[in-house]
Amino acid sequence: MPESIKHCVEVITTITSEFPFRTFSILVRYGNKYALLLDCGPSIADKLFKLGISTVEINYVIISHQHGDHILGFPILTFARYAELNNLQQEKGSKRLQVIANQETVEQCLRITKEVFPGEADMFPVTYICITAPCSIKLDDFCTIEARNVMHTVPAIGVRLELSFSHGLFTIAFSGDTRPCESMIHLARNADLLIHDVFCEHTYHAVAEKWGHTTAYEAGILAQKAGVKQIMMINQWYKYRDQEALQKLEKEISEHFDGKVITPKDMSIFRF
Ligand SMILES: [Zn+2]
Repeated sequence: MPESIKHCVEVITTITSEFPFRTFSILVRYGNKYALLLDCGPSIADKLFKLGISTVEINYVIISHQHGDHILGFPILTFARYAELNNLQQEKGSKRLQVIANQETVEQCLRITKEVFPGEADMFPVTYICITAPCSIKLDDFCTIEARNVMHTVPAIGVRLELSFSHGLFTIAFSGDTRPCESMIHLARNADLLIHDVFCEHTYHAVAEKWGHTTAYEAGILAQKAGVKQIMMINQWYKYRDQEALQKLEKEISEHFDGKVITPKDMSIFRF
């Protein structure tokens, strides 16, 4: 199989670790020309720069909900992208960033971008696609997304990406922040990769419940029920910073899930 076909999907993880929580933004590159960002953590523009990835490359941003650790990178990302387009003297009309989110999150994006770039934000080439879940959208020849409401402390969505290639389908489900719920089991059904909130061990389940997150035990059960091939755990509580602590989460998931458990590192690249 040619290399270009074997690796049609790249999943690039970035983590903002200065925060009390491990905050994730996930870049999915596919079809050799599209890039879709899942959530927009505070340092995403900086991380992309360090990875040597131009902000202009990004076609879509899906933002799961309005909390700062998932959205604060958005104004800088759109500003950096606008600056890069100007620098490249590229036609901005054809390079609009499509932002997909629920109404509350779209309003938050508009509010914070105007707040920190007064008088300039309107020039950034951004198109907002305000969705009401459940819904499906065909983004391009390769990617269709399905969104459902999940269970967090504010309105939030989870998504399923179906990436179609001539040799088959690759599916990714992404939870954002959520309690375990039927919506995520539906979105993750038989997925090749489930990227899911794994906040803490089940011994701290009261904390996970209070803040609208999922424990490792609950994530393992959910992944098993949904029949996914592998789970990538995101959104850990501050207690889970070092490798030893993260391994406790991996172990707890594996006790209830037969597939592979992935603990992503900052700026890791996974090829599928
Ligand atoms: Zn949240």
